[in-house]
Amino acid sequence: MNDSNRPLAGLEEVEEFLKDRYPEPATVESTFKATNPNKRKEEFRNYEANARPSVREFYRLNHRYQTYDFVQTKRKEYLGLNRKQMSVWEALEFLNTLVDDSDPDTDMSQLDHLLQTAEQIRHDGHPRWFILAGLIHDLGKILCLYGEPQWAVVGDTFPVGCAWSEKVVFHPFFADNPDSKESHYQTRLGVYQEGKGLDSVSMSWGHDEYLYNVVKDYLPPEALYMIRYHSFYPCHRDGEYGYFMNQQDRDLFKWVQAFNPYDLYTKSHKKPNLAELRPFYDELIREYFPAQLRW
Ligand code: FE
Ligand code: FE
Repeated sequence: MNDSNRPLAGLEEVEEFLKDRYPEPATVESTFKATNPNKRKEEFRNYEANARPSVREFYRLNHRYQTYDFVQTKRKEYLGLNRKQMSVWEALEFLNTLVDDSDPDTDMSQLDHLLQTAEQIRHDGHPRWFILAGLIHDLGKILCLYGEPQWAVVGDTFPVGCAWSEKVVFHPFFADNPDSKESHYQTRLGVYQEGKGLDSVSMSWGHDEYLYNVVKDYLPPEALYMIRYHSFYPCHRDGEYGYFMNQQDRDLFKWVQAFNPYDLYTKSHKKPNLAELRPFYDELIREYFPAQLRW
C-alpha cells in the first residue's frame, strides 16, 4: 500500500463499520422509508462515537477532500478508460493483489468477498446478471492500485455540488470541506435540477462510479444500478436525496436494495473454492462481456 494510504483505515475496517452502522434488517422493505428518523439518527451518533480512530480519520479525510471540483477532476482522469485493457478475470486477479494490511484477523481476500457474494446470490436462485453483478461489484477498487487514497475509493457515497444530507455518516466533518463555503453548492438542489435523475448528479468519487463506466455497455440496467449505487447508503438505506430521482431511479433502486444484503452480510469463513467455481464464472463472464474491457 502506498504512503498516501498510511494514515487511513484499512478497507476492511471501513466495511466492517458500514456493516455495524447498517445492521441487517428483519426485512428489506423495512429499511426504506419505514424507519423512525429520530431513532436512527441517535443510533448513527453511537456508531460514530464508537468508531475506531482509523475509521473516523478515514471519514474526516473523505468529507474534507471530496469536493465538487475534486470529483470532476477524477471523472476526467479516469472515465476516458485509457489506463489498461484487461479481461474481467485479469481485473479480478489484479484486484486480488490489493492486500488489506489493517486486518490480520481475516484471510479473506477481495476475490473471496466477490465470490462469496456471487455464490450467495446464485444459491438464492437469482438471474445470471444478478450473480455477475455480485462477482464484479467491487472491481472498481483497483483505483487503490492506481495510487488513489482509500477515501477516494471506498466508504459511503453522496452527491457533491449540493447540500449534504444530515444522514451522511460523520456529517460534522463536512465543515472542513471547501464547498461548505460555496453558497451555490449549499442549497438542497445545488447545481442540479429536481427530478432530473441521478445520472445527472455527480457522486463523491469512488469504486462504484468507476466500475459502472467500465461495464455500462454490457449489463442490464438493474445490474448497472447495483454496481453504480451500492455505496450510496444515504439513499438506498435512509431514503435521502429522493428529490434528484426520476421514475427510472425509483423503479430500479429496489434492485440496489435487493443487492445490499448480499454485499454486507455474506460473510462466511469458508474460503470459496476457486478451481471448482471457475468454469461456471468463465461462462457467465463470456455471456455478457467481450474478451477485453477498457479500464
Ligand atoms: Fe463496494
Ligand atoms: Fe462489496
